[in-house]
Amino acid sequence: MDGRPLFLEPRLEPRLRSLVAATGTLHSLTDALGSPLHVVVPDQIAENLERFRSVYRARHLSGQVFYAHKANRSSALLRRLAATDAGVDVASLGELQHALGAGFSAGRITATGPKNPEFLWLAARAGVTVSVDGVAELDQLATLVRKHSPAPVPVLLRLSGFETSGVRVLSRRSRFGTPVRELEVLLEAVERHGDAVDLTGAAFHLDTTSVAEKATALEGCLAALETCRGRGLRPRAVDVGGGFGVSYLAEREQWEAYTTALTSAVLGRRPPLTWGGHGYGLRNESGTLRGTLGLYPAHRSVAGPAYLDELLAQPAASLGGRPLAGLLLEHLYDLHTEPGRALLDQCGLTLAKVLEVRDQGAGGELLVRLAAKADDIALEDHGVLMDPVVIPGSGAGPGEGPVAVHLFGSLCLETDLITRRTVFLPRRPVPGDLLAFANTAGYAMDFHATRAQHQPAAHKVAAWQDGDMWRWCLDDQFWPITPSGGAQ
Ligand SMILES: *Cc1c(COP(=O)(O)O)cnc(C)c1O
Repeated sequence: MDGRPLFLEPRLEPRLRSLVAATGTLHSLTDALGSPLHVVVPDQIAENLERFRSVYRARHLSGQVFYAHKANRSSALLRRLAATDAGVDVASLGELQHALGAGFSAGRITATGPKNPEFLWLAARAGVTVSVDGVAELDQLATLVRKHSPAPVPVLLRLSGFETSGVRVLSRRSRFGTPVRELEVLLEAVERHGDAVDLTGAAFHLDTTSVAEKATALEGCLAALETCRGRGLRPRAVDVGGGFGVSYLAEREQWEAYTTALTSAVLGRRPPLTWGGHGYGLRNESGTLRGTLGLYPAHRSVAGPAYLDELLAQPAASLGGRPLAGLLLEHLYDLHTEPGRALLDQCGLTLAKVLEVRDQGAGGELLVRLAAKADDIALEDHGVLMDPVVIPGSGAGPGEGPVAVHLFGSLCLETDLITRRTVFLPRRPVPGDLLAFANTAGYAMDFHATRAQHQPAAHKVAAWQDGDMWRWCLDDQFWPITPSGGAQ
């Protein structure tokens, strides 16, 4: 091994830390249900909701937190949330059915994203709020409502293409929403369909970590609401979408040390830190570093609820430099948020059994093959680099010190790497050990799952603490009823 090990240890809050320490339970789970196995922790999502709520409370804002369901298919997480006062943001017919079936009433559901006619029909029929993408969708919705719905349907206008008052265009291009410069045409359609839809507000969702970009969009929505009111419409909410983010790593220093070392490796100043010298977007052009690092900022000092708070503290440039939160409060607008990843922070982990550990000899990295496919642990797909935790099996000896490994999946495919990064583990793993990938509930469990090669998709279980014990059931068997489901 060259140089010191570069660990990227996961951030573990008490609940997940306790689960990782329950080694006997984790082994009997994979013995019974196979590897890979996803474990979700429903009580954590309720705690995360409270953290978002406390940001609202501190700023005296009303409004709803809508969980972006697309980030995890789990029934247990959804049902646990149905037992709180949160809402849910659904992006397909199946998700809408799932939410209704989990106990969310229509008033707690928003339908976003691309919509097929069946999705739109059920949304209209049930009377959920529809975040409309544009004039065509509004026309389609109004037709459905007139034919099939007992009452007008609440709609949010999803906007995009925001510009600052200055010359600089901050917000990036989006496939979704109506550009604000076409607001006029959209409002004409809202007025035309006044018998079928009830305009409740404006919405955006930007897939970016930039607070400035989101502040520009929020400001743009506030201006759009003013335009609506000027025309006699009565909107009352702004929906700022999701994208509040998660801090995955325990230590900022480890993240900085790793990215610095990766840069050196790409420039050839140290041995490669990845399979085949992959640069995660960086490349060496005759000694000069080019490209951009295509990784999720795995350590973030501001993420989740704190990121929402930072957004609300941003000054509104076109509105006298006052904080955005103050403007929302002054107009008595509801603030809606749609966190996906951030509400799922610390809500689960993925277990994979070590099948084979192969020496390459001469100080090379160990090749470790897992009973899992890269698709089952899709952290890499989202650019998240984070070490797994070794859960020793019964065959584990005391082991030597840190080792460098490459983690392979079980497909007969060169590219089935769990991660292209050289991973440093505190000791040499042996077959029968489990690797626990923490914090996979947001997008890394089932978003990319396949049944390639007739290999099974991972089972999912829900786990909760009962005194000192961890109890569990299959995800689909979980209902938030004591004594079986944790929630009190
Ligand atoms: C995906 C999505 C979200 C959630 O995004 P996160 O980054 O997971 O918070 C919220 N709203 C909409 C419209 C989305 O498409």
